[in-house]
Amino acid sequence: MAVRFPELALHLSPLLTGAHSHIRGLGLDDRLEPRANAQGMVGQPKARKAAGMILKMVQEGRIAGRAMLFAGPPSTGKTAIALGMAQTLGSDVPFTMIAASEVFSLSMSKTEALTQALRRSIGVRIREETEIIEGEVVEIQIDRSLTGATKTGKLTIKTTDMETIYDLGTKMIDSLSKEKVLAGDVVSIDKASGKVSKLGRSFARSRDYDAMGADTKFVRCPEGEIQKRKEVVHTVSLHEIDVINSRTQGFLALFAGDTGEIKPELRNQINTKVTEWREEGKAEIVPGVLFIDEVHMLDIECFSFLNRALENDLAPLVIMASNRGLARVRGTKIQSPHGLPVDLLDRVLIVSTKPYEEQDIQQIIQIRCEEEDVTLTSEALNVLTTMAVQTTLRYALNLISCAQILARKRKAENVDVEDLRRAYTYFMDEKRSVQWLKEQQGSLMF
Ligand code: ATP
Repeated sequence: MAVRFPELALHLSPLLTGAHSHIRGLGLDDRLEPRANAQGMVGQPKARKAAGMILKMVQEGRIAGRAMLFAGPPSTGKTAIALGMAQTLGSDVPFTMIAASEVFSLSMSKTEALTQALRRSIGVRIREETEIIEGEVVEIQIDRSLTGATKTGKLTIKTTDMETIYDLGTKMIDSLSKEKVLAGDVVSIDKASGKVSKLGRSFARSRDYDAMGADTKFVRCPEGEIQKRKEVVHTVSLHEIDVINSRTQGFLALFAGDTGEIKPELRNQINTKVTEWREEGKAEIVPGVLFIDEVHMLDIECFSFLNRALENDLAPLVIMASNRGLARVRGTKIQSPHGLPVDLLDRVLIVSTKPYEEQDIQQIIQIRCEEEDVTLTSEALNVLTTMAVQTTLRYALNLISCAQILARKRKAENVDVEDLRRAYTYFMDEKRSVQWLKEQQGSLMF
């Protein structure tokens, strides 16, 4: 079967909702130590460090087919850390984010939805050689085989002009053959004219030829001809290859997002083809990350499917998050930690997130204010921090923009305590909502 793949890599980057738009990474230093306040991240040092360690293993391709669980109370940064991980991964490492409830739909079975999510999270990096096309910016690398103790003198010319490519190339080859220059000799090339002249081998030893004037470059001689072909690399996900090769769906389904079910035989053929490409050195597998938020919403069939899917050769790292304690595993009567069956729990690395200290909360509020372009008076900042401690961080963060509207209404530049107070009376937090429900018993329908 001739398996097709898209010409362009469709980087399905994670959809960042407004609430997390300030997160730009995990905020770790080179030794994976969490910085106090960096890349929009504050606090939660242990969880961030653990996430960083796992990321390192993903980047080194050492952790495919494993699973981890972020477990902790609401608003403790589980989603934020997962998104920080996504930002840190290279652009061609796939990161897919789903809420567990998305798996339940009328258009496809639960296991198909999970399979698609898993295959979206596996990248295939495909290498191809193509002809250079007129007008393209190409890099001519004259020396591809430099080794040795002397400085490398790799010459890179960026040009869109085909004439220049051929002209310079021909001049080089001519001149090299006339001069009987051997591979490893050092030559100088005049950038403007492309004139190549030979220099003695001693030159390489005696001078730092790479640091000389801007108009002349010195390089070691190429071993072969100048490349008129170039290598292109693009990464697509297994799911994209599936969809494009599915007769009923086709390329446009990728944009519509409505891919329907894909036949298992097709997937098997694609797996075989990708394995062939791997063996021939044409492609490599890039295991990515599948993030399943609110994982306790999956049911026992989904858990059993995931357990088995993780055994597969082509499995990504699966990160799950749950804010539940002891909860019933959906589809059973069994109570289990975080609502996950014990056999799955046994194979996951569990990272816990803890409630924030007041100081961390204040910094998160400040970061969000900067992100939303809102200035709080210092008194308002203290009041909002207290509100967050007494209600929830998420409630307090939601009040920022509401209070800003109220401040604007009274034509004030900065949000003050009064604006927060009014916003607080307009919008209930969870505790007041429960209280209100109790008071309304009898007048509401249940
Ligand atoms: P839930 O269990 O309710 O889904 P969660 O643990 O996933 O909650 P988040 O949604 O990540 O919590 O956090 C709530 C808000 O606080 C988000 O806007 C998030 O970006 C922000 N936030 C949480 N932790 C941090 C942090 N350590 N640094 C910066 N912002 C954070």
